Amino acid sequence: MDAAFIEEMKDLLYKERKTILDRMNGDNSSFKEEGATGRGDSVDLASDEGAFKKMEALNAMDAKRLTAVENALKRISENRYGICLKCGKKIPEDRLRAMPSAVLCIDCKNEEERRRSAN
Ligand SMILES: [Zn+2]
Repeated sequence: MDAAFIEEMKDLLYKERKTILDRMNGDNSSFKEEGATGRGDSVDLASDEGAFKKMEALNAMDAKRLTAVENALKRISENRYGICLKCGKKIPEDRLRAMPSAVLCIDCKNEEERRRSAN
């Protein structure tokens, strides 16, 4: 795969990693503030719980994305970037540009989603 393209993707991946980490840190601090103001009131406590669940779900999503980004960076360092994890075919550059952390080609990705929705 083209070295300039790899550099471009690396740049995008590092940026995405930073965005996710910044957001995770931001969420944590705003949650602490909410927790401090809602102390001692049962109604506020319940809404805090809701906020916490929402934050947990958000963090889980970000954590997943972060893992995908780290995996992609690892694959770059192993010279396996842009190769589909399942079928070993090249992932089109257009797809990688739209989603630099993609590890599956569109066919395999579609198949995986079909299987997941069938469950
Ligand atoms: Zn594939």
